[in-house]
Amino acid sequence: EFRAIVVTRTEDESGKRTQSSALTTIGNDALMDGDVTVAVEFSSINYKDGLALMGKPGVARVWPLIAGIDLVGTVESSSDPRWAAGDHVILNGAGIGESHHGGFAERARVSGGSLVRLPEAVSAERAAAIGTAGFTAMLAVLALERGGVAPDSGDVLVTGAAGGVGSIAIALLAARGYRVVASTGRGDELGDYLRGLGAAQILDRHTLDEAGKPLQTQRWAGAVDSVGSFTLANILAQTDQGGVVASCGLAQGADLPTTVMPFILRAVTLAGINSVEAPLALREEAWAHLATEVDLELLDSLTSVITLEDSFAAAGDILAGRMHGRTVVDVRH
Ligand code: NAP
Repeated sequence: EFRAIVVTRTEDESGKRTQSSALTTIGNDALMDGDVTVAVEFSSINYKDGLALMGKPGVARVWPLIAGIDLVGTVESSSDPRWAAGDHVILNGAGIGESHHGGFAERARVSGGSLVRLPEAVSAERAAAIGTAGFTAMLAVLALERGGVAPDSGDVLVTGAAGGVGSIAIALLAARGYRVVASTGRGDELGDYLRGLGAAQILDRHTLDEAGKPLQTQRWAGAVDSVGSFTLANILAQTDQGGVVASCGLAQGADLPTTVMPFILRAVTLAGINSVEAPLALREEAWAHLATEVDLELLDSLTSVITLEDSFAAAGDILAGRMHGRTVVDVRH
């Protein structure tokens, strides 16, 4: 038996569905198919985990489901020849916490094909602090680099700056030598925090979040956007000739009220980022970069560590926009 946060869905007589989550104890027979069994040590709180734990639709797609889109732990047993008992592994996305049992549990059985080996330089706890947020941030940084955005190209904008993806994106870009502008709704409260991560300048997110002209003054060589909607439309309209915008998230909305003008008149590239379905080679490439480029002490300074019991309150906080940086869940406590 092991402890897990399980999301369940019930349907009343009128067909109304209610989703809820609870910390409970379950048996090994509840594990889903997979060729690797992992003793989970750490998970983390991402926006999606907030939705799943707070009973919101859109993340859990099977019920009952163990929540948690990240896990870091030690292999207990494996029939995948790549993995053996004692190996330290990381899993981000790949359907866990959505359609397959996830990381908010002391044990997981998963597919070995999406597991990445824990880099030697990174502890299990720090790998969870990086988590899907940091992995996604690195995928975005790699997309900018692939598109030719270099540190001397000009300023790079990071939106949703104080969030998980945004915080790590700022740190990664600054470490690579980019001049980073951080767009946030919490500049008064978190300006020092964002400058500490490496932001050279803070921008009030409200300057970007309403409908604007299809083409505006060029000011970004690239951008990492967690916000979508009008914000992403304005970023595209402000991106330099040949610039690259990595679209990671939808904190403002899933809509994108834009025109083709930035694409056909300024050759702007809109690069889609999908951490969940990332192929193994890209996972390994991103984690190899994370292992050497993340300033581990800076990472510690933006991370808090909580227990499984505390995850429900943290889920409420991330949905309410009260959280900043990264929150690790120590599932053993
Ligand atoms: P998070 O920690 O909650 O960060 C989101 C940040 O967005 C908030 O901290 C806030 O930053 C900003 N924000 C919130 N509401 C906003 C609004 N209405 N308008 C403008 N900005 C707003 O979440 P996260 O885990 O970093 O995830 C960020 C986004 O990326 C989410 O939409 C998530 O689903 C998505 N995501 C996608 C992938 C992928 O593979 N594509 C992977 C991970 C996450 P400030 O307080 O600084 O303004």
